[in-house]
Amino acid sequence: MLHSSGQSAVFRFAPSPNGHLHLGHAYSALLNHDMAQESSGRLLLRMEDVDLTRCTPEYEASIYRDLEWLGLRWEMPVRRQSEHLNDYAVALERLREMGLVYPAFMTRGEVKAIVAEREESSLEWPRDPDGSPQYPDRDRQLSDVEREQRLASGIRHAWRLDMDKAVCGIGQPLTWRETGGGAERLVTADPSAWGDVVLSRSDAPSSYHLSVTVDDALQGVTDVVRGIDLFHATSVHRLLQELLGLPQPLYHHHRLILDEEGRKLSKSEGATGLAALREAGSSPADIRRRVGL
Ligand code: GLU
Repeated sequence: MLHSSGQSAVFRFAPSPNGHLHLGHAYSALLNHDMAQESSGRLLLRMEDVDLTRCTPEYEASIYRDLEWLGLRWEMPVRRQSEHLNDYAVALERLREMGLVYPAFMTRGEVKAIVAEREESSLEWPRDPDGSPQYPDRDRQLSDVEREQRLASGIRHAWRLDMDKAVCGIGQPLTWRETGGGAERLVTADPSAWGDVVLSRSDAPSSYHLSVTVDDALQGVTDVVRGIDLFHATSVHRLLQELLGLPQPLYHHHRLILDEEGRKLSKSEGATGLAALREAGSSPADIRRRVGL
């Protein structure tokens, strides 16, 4: 299929090498592969390894092994996010120049304490679509002098997006084109539901939201096919695309493969791991059947 730009469609599978692949990843990778083939498009593989504390070369090697075994082929070189930190730093700097980011100094424990205190008095603290408490506005309210003093003191900090300001700057309702679950429809994005999202941390120089948005644009991705668990995150990606002047891909959020109890698979579970299934005698065709392809 040709996109409006006249270019062929570009799909990507973007695992994080912080664990072994399981049936859920197999479904996502195979679906990307099949959709790329159906539209005579390209398939890219991207290693989302910005979290330097959790990603390892061993997991990365096991991902290549599992995907090759499934019969997938992808274009080389594979983009490894850890090799492109400067691209995310440039995007962050642009947002900083627009006055849309601020340094956030609170530790997880401090945030938890504030939330607990509020909830003890039966006042609900706003939570993001993943159920985590939104970041309190204390750091956003700091005076310039206080902020500079804290930065100069060298204390650890993250950089967060000033969500209210960013959404105000857009000034129009944000939407995305979605093909998951049937015919193409327009979804209204609601980035405010996330509060002031993290864009960079001291131990992970770029957040998932920032690097995925920058990379999809830099790699010319036209079709983002990923699990429905990332559906709401798309609101943040659409906002960042608008702020940074990046094109918007077409989105397809697919069903998740669940375990017998109906829970999302986790990377630590051996029984649904691709390597374990391979060792137990499953074939790539068995995997396709098990995930319903
Ligand atoms: N790296 C993400 C994950 O492994 C997927 C990101 C995406 O497809 O947008 O869950």
